[in-house]
Amino acid sequence: MTAPAPLIDRFARRISYLRLSVTDRCDLRCAYCMPERMEFLPRADVLSLEELHRLALAFIARGVTKLRLTGGEPLVRRDMIDLVRALGRELGSGLEELTLTTNGTRLAAFAEDLAAAGVRRINVSLDTRDRDTFARLARRDALPQVLDGIAAAKAARLKVKLNTVALKGVNEDELPDLITWAHGQGHEITLIEVMPLGEIEQDRFAQYLPLDAVRRDLAQRWTLSPSDARSGGPARYVDIAETGGRLGFITPLTGNFCEGCNRVRVTATGQLFMCLGGEGKVDLRAALRSDDPDAALAQAFARAMGEKPERHAFAIDRAGAAPALARHMSMTGG
Ligand code: SAM
Ligand code: SF4
Repeated sequence: MTAPAPLIDRFARRISYLRLSVTDRCDLRCAYCMPERMEFLPRADVLSLEELHRLALAFIARGVTKLRLTGGEPLVRRDMIDLVRALGRELGSGLEELTLTTNGTRLAAFAEDLAAAGVRRINVSLDTRDRDTFARLARRDALPQVLDGIAAAKAARLKVKLNTVALKGVNEDELPDLITWAHGQGHEITLIEVMPLGEIEQDRFAQYLPLDAVRRDLAQRWTLSPSDARSGGPARYVDIAETGGRLGFITPLTGNFCEGCNRVRVTATGQLFMCLGGEGKVDLRAALRSDDPDAALAQAFARAMGEKPERHAFAIDRAGAAPALARHMSMTGG
């Protein structure tokens, strides 16, 4: 049998990075991400552990070298660690990096297991270190668990990168402290602009804090030197002389980052989204559940590569409350 064709799109971008969502469920309700009364998918719609595994192997066979598990909150899925163990066995034979993005609430229980399975780096979302702000923003009083989780990850020698959504009037005054703390702990930290994804029962523009302004403020306080570091993704980095650490900026709304895009996303129901900022998708679950999954997957991948858009089309609509895209970030996992 010939090897499956590598994933290369119309613009000659080679897809080497998959973000695979293992659940749409979450134990938090971050105000920018989902409404309090979020409706989750029926379990039967979500891919089984075997299907997730099979799908991940199909991507690895086509040249995906980096796999990020995400959600919803990946660690709320009960059999998640089994998937991590199974995928950990692919490390060194095609797969180069297995990682995950988590809100950290259950990290204390899983950090050792993740490290033992071959995970070396994880992203933890942390928007604030103030307990009240956290409880208001995430609508759950879970900051102590998250901080325990981050400490457990460090103890398990996982490299932690913190992701912080910069939010006007919520954490904007705290950002310098958060960065100082992260760097003091030896963690990288990346700031993210809020993106117009999904209905959230709030005015998204009220939360929007442009990162070019944040960067200007930080540059008054610290010496920022642009860094050549690239993660293959949209983040751009600076080194901060005073804290001795690296700070990333992800600016989907004020910057453009599509030319070098090497990634695709799969939801927990097996929908392959070619772009975080687009509606285009291909149904891999139907392919997996068809009579001839190998052939159907090959066809689905070919279609996806023909349809991956050149660039995203986000815009925060100042006038209206309607999100640019109907789906929530918790579907595609960011
Ligand atoms: N639950 C996990 C977590 O919070 O890390 C993984 C999934 S979450 C959807 C992934 C990332 O997306 C988090 O860092 C979160 O802050 C970010 N996110 C969610 N909604 C967002 C939005 N509307 N704009 C920007 N980032 C968002
Ligand atoms: Fe849950 Fe992550 Fe969304 Fe927060 S950002 S509600 S932790 S999925």
